[in-house]
Amino acid sequence: MKVGFVGWRGMVGSVLLHRMRECGDFGSFDSSFFTTSQKGVQRQITGLSEEVVLKDAYNFEELSQNAVILSCQGGEYSKQVYSELRKNGWSGYWIDAASFLRMHPDSTVILDPVNRNLIDSAIEAGKKNFIGGNCTVSLMLMALHGLFNSGVIEWVSSMTYQAASGAGAESIRELISQMGEISEAGINKPDVLEMEETIRARMLHDDFPTQFTKAPLAGGLIPWIDEDLGSGQSREEWKAEAEANRILGTESNPTRIEGICVRVGTLRCHGQALMFKLKEKVDLSQLTRIINDANDWVTVIGNNKDSSIAGLSPAKISGTLKIPVGRLRKLSIDDNIYSAFTLGDQLLWGAAEPLRRMLKIIVQHIK
Ligand code: NAP
Repeated sequence: MKVGFVGWRGMVGSVLLHRMRECGDFGSFDSSFFTTSQKGVQRQITGLSEEVVLKDAYNFEELSQNAVILSCQGGEYSKQVYSELRKNGWSGYWIDAASFLRMHPDSTVILDPVNRNLIDSAIEAGKKNFIGGNCTVSLMLMALHGLFNSGVIEWVSSMTYQAASGAGAESIRELISQMGEISEAGINKPDVLEMEETIRARMLHDDFPTQFTKAPLAGGLIPWIDEDLGSGQSREEWKAEAEANRILGTESNPTRIEGICVRVGTLRCHGQALMFKLKEKVDLSQLTRIINDANDWVTVIGNNKDSSIAGLSPAKISGTLKIPVGRLRKLSIDDNIYSAFTLGDQLLWGAAEPLRRMLKIIVQHIK
């Protein structure tokens, strides 16, 4: 069985290969590695013992040799290559991190701890496109899995605090250089107000590095992510309801999900302040149990100052598959309305991990 990887050296692809090595996934299939820019180059690949020669990611004949193509290359690549492959009769499995095919009628948006039943039905029905969901949507569903499962949610509002990594590798680099510039400008000012004014002047100067982030992210935030849909909503905000219901298989009777998506200066850990209304009264201990028992990765953190500060720290959650849910309480503004705050590594459950697990499901199915 042959699997072709495209986009494996990007941010999502690198995390994917590391996880595959960690989990011993290589070995049950033959791997080929494709590139849009380094065709013919010999490379050492994470997880493999021998160097490989990179293949041309636009060579349809070579791509078609694979039973599975897994792409973390991006939407533009999928747009150029996917339809052409299908037009030429390729009938293999296409697993993709990009959003391009998420709403395609033949696609299943994958998050197997939450929708393994839909994935299995799609495979049985002969469907071949399995697409990773948006990072915040996947992380929210992992966090509130139990509540969605039990059908008690009336609506959810999600206010996001999204990491720089979601905007690509260059954004993380730029965030770090912004931090360096801020520190250099202000750290030696003995008067704290003078320090703040000096830093602010530096942040607003024309040569402050904002080529990728578009505005100062270190010491700041950016309250808009992805395209402007012209309706007052960003595409990122639109994805919450559309993709969550697609993952849950509830598109015909969707749960309302709305909010504002904000970029903040964390590196690779997204946060979400959630507010949700339940259809019925559920006491807090039952609510805690439903959320906590839903999957192997979610854990409810006690709603007190010390546990919240210690347990809901992006630095601690980054690089892990943990999904902590804290700040859980009934709000006083109306009946059956609760708050929660959740974190998750957006490159793991938010991107690479559902793809890795999907590849494993397909490999087991084909064998
Ligand atoms: P990325 O880091 O920009 O990598 C994409 C490609 O850029 C690489 O595969 C590589 O392709 C090329 N590239 C050029 N210079 C590079 C360099 N110096 N280092 C590494 N790669 C370089 O993209 P990404 O953030 O992983 O995102 C890939 C897809 O996943 C996108 O569709 C994105 O929307 C989606 N996604 C991303 C996230 C996220 O958190 N970033 C989350 C969910 C989904 P060649 O080898 O062909 O040159």
